[in-house]
Amino acid sequence: MMLDLAHVSAFYGKAQVLHDLSFTVGQGQVVALLGRNGAGKTTLLKTIMQMIAPRPGRVRFQGRDITGWPPHRVARAGLGYVPEERRIFTDLSVLENLEVGRQPKRDGAAHWSTERLFDLFPNLAERRRNRGRELSGGEQQMLAIARTLMGNPSCVLLDEPSEGIAPVIVEDMARAILELRVQGLTVLLSEQNLYFARAVASHALVLDRGSLRFSGSLAELDARPELSAAWLAV
Ligand code: ATP
Repeated sequence: MMLDLAHVSAFYGKAQVLHDLSFTVGQGQVVALLGRNGAGKTTLLKTIMQMIAPRPGRVRFQGRDITGWPPHRVARAGLGYVPEERRIFTDLSVLENLEVGRQPKRDGAAHWSTERLFDLFPNLAERRRNRGRELSGGEQQMLAIARTLMGNPSCVLLDEPSEGIAPVIVEDMARAILELRVQGLTVLLSEQNLYFARAVASHALVLDRGSLRFSGSLAELDARPELSAAWLAV
């Protein structure tokens, strides 16, 4: 298993936001984490990264219990994270942003180079000399993902990669994530857009007010339209 969560809950102060979540993400799966605004998707991704402590619960990554690790150690172990607020360096060029993300190759992890990333995101290739701040929102999102891939992660967590970007760029983004799937990278992405999820994901998790309502293949989710009607904005 790439990720294995057992009985994970999370709180902000006294407010419980995640309720006893248990699920696994298998090697090579692209899993869409679905749910309405405020369902707890961002909180769950941060809890997997150990930016929020599971209380209680355990998180395993590639068989290792990472519960309580500092987030930078989780990242170094090969779990990449791209937050919703794209953290790129606005004063650095696209190429420089990618160089900053470079990490030594880890055993078994794909070895990303700037050239391979430019093949994955042709929009960025054309803009390689531009500064981060000159990019569109969608291009910045692509750069944030590409920079994380420079760290050669075994698995990446993407927080709403299609959020707030132009429709034509959403298509490019979907194509890139599908390509990551073809290359065997494990991806867990939070998403409010069921159409985007359908285009890229093999599996889905449905969160509703911090509880897991569904975990299975996208085909199974599609076979049960009452689920998406009840718990997703479609
Ligand atoms: P969105 O799509 O809006 O990002 P989400 O599914 O990612 O939604 P979360 O951001 O994880 O949901 O929020 C889950 C719940 O936790 C919401 O009720 C939210 O108001 C609450 N919450 C989020 N961040 C905090 C915080 N720092 N302090 C207190 N409550 C918070």
